[in-house]
Amino acid sequence: MKRPKVKNILIISVLTISFLLSGFNATGPKAPEFKLKRIVIDAGHGGKDPGTVGSMSKEKDIALKVALQVGQYIKENLPEVEVIYTRKTDTFIELKERSNIANRNKADLFISIHCNAAPSRAAYGTETFVMGTKNFEANFDIVKRENSVILLEENFEEQYEGFDPSSPESYMMFNLMQKAFLSNSLSLASKVEEDFSTRVNRYSRGVKQAPLYVLWTTSMPSVLIELGFLSNANEEKYLNTKDGQTYLSSAIYRSVKAYKEEIEEL
Ligand SMILES: [Zn+2]
Repeated sequence: MKRPKVKNILIISVLTISFLLSGFNATGPKAPEFKLKRIVIDAGHGGKDPGTVGSMSKEKDIALKVALQVGQYIKENLPEVEVIYTRKTDTFIELKERSNIANRNKADLFISIHCNAAPSRAAYGTETFVMGTKNFEANFDIVKRENSVILLEENFEEQYEGFDPSSPESYMMFNLMQKAFLSNSLSLASKVEEDFSTRVNRYSRGVKQAPLYVLWTTSMPSVLIELGFLSNANEEKYLNTKDGQTYLSSAIYRSVKAYKEEIEEL
């Protein structure tokens, strides 16, 4: 008689404890917490890899200045968010290591910052990429350029298991693990392009999908921002001004803030 009673009390206690631990409170069940706690900011290229080169400047230098400024705004205005840079100086970082840094640190967001170039000097404007293979052939020049950095790395054949950045066939083998993060990545990417266009008065070429290495190997929402074309004289000039860099950095910061509010509201 007594034994089952003790057992019942034990079961009830266990149930109560699990109930309390499950996060129930007076207002009902609590949604799982999703917070933007850690951001990796990746300044493209660096060191022996200048990225695209304009008539007066190099992509690696502009990308670094803007990356540091975005990080600074986040630190000042969103002190609860930890900022991690893939590089803070003019150093060469392998592509693989950039996504490793984000994955190792369990970042909630990855933002890669770059400048564009095109054979036509008339091309200008901003564009933001998320991982995807939809219509990527249209952006294959950018895909090739941004991914071909691995050719500068030692043992790249071994490191990247036969992946050839200049062969479209190589891109068919992707494991699209970024698919899970597509809607979040798209949400941030649209905010960035919208802010560039409406508040910084840049010409936005829109949000695009492409299999860019740093995007498909990061296991969190991620975007790659092309700030403008160094092959366009006016845009190169703008990208080299302190004001231009400040406006673009503020736009990226505001988009991160809006994205944070959006995902934490859910
Ligand atoms: Zn680049």
